[in-house]
Amino acid sequence: MDTPAFEELGSENTLPGINEGEIIVIRSTRRKKNISAYRQGGRIVVSIPARMSKADERAMVPEMVAKIRAQEAAITMSEEALASRIDELLTQLVPEISLRPASVVWRGMRERWGSCTGVDRSIRISDRLKGAPDYALDYVLFHEAIHLEYFDHGAEFKELLARFPKAEIASAYLDGYEAAETALAAPEALKKLLAKG
Ligand SMILES: [Zn+2]
Repeated sequence: MDTPAFEELGSENTLPGINEGEIIVIRSTRRKKNISAYRQGGRIVVSIPARMSKADERAMVPEMVAKIRAQEAAITMSEEALASRIDELLTQLVPEISLRPASVVWRGMRERWGSCTGVDRSIRISDRLKGAPDYALDYVLFHEAIHLEYFDHGAEFKELLARFPKAEIASAYLDGYEAAETALAAPEALKKLLAKG
């Protein structure tokens, strides 16, 4: 009875300046006046009162999305900063690796935290780590940086990775994030299942 209605913006009601599928609007009967927004993985979820008019929704949702993006921009490291952080981590923890990435970029990846291509020494970091605690981001950067030298997760790789001082808490953060993401995605999956009848 108090189940929020999930509404994925389709082509006919996509708001200006917002890419499809990136924004989820939840109409909640529990919510009387408040409107709130938060990041869930690659998406921004905006929760609005069930009775809010379509006109108000079209006015308020972009405002909330802009607010979230501004907050994220303020706390997100530049790609240049990611590269110099990798340099610091390797210098401190694995001085025997002298290779450095040719490029480090943020990438919208929902299945992985990061990836490294040895041939062109390129590293990609999931944008789900924007705003993550330093130790979690560092752990992924360090992991991918070791791949510059070791392609697989063999004994040598693991030995170097184990030098990261906060590996345990970092893994716990990443696992917890993924578990929460799965749990939050569940109502949508259920809705699709019900729609199929
Ligand atoms: Zn790996």
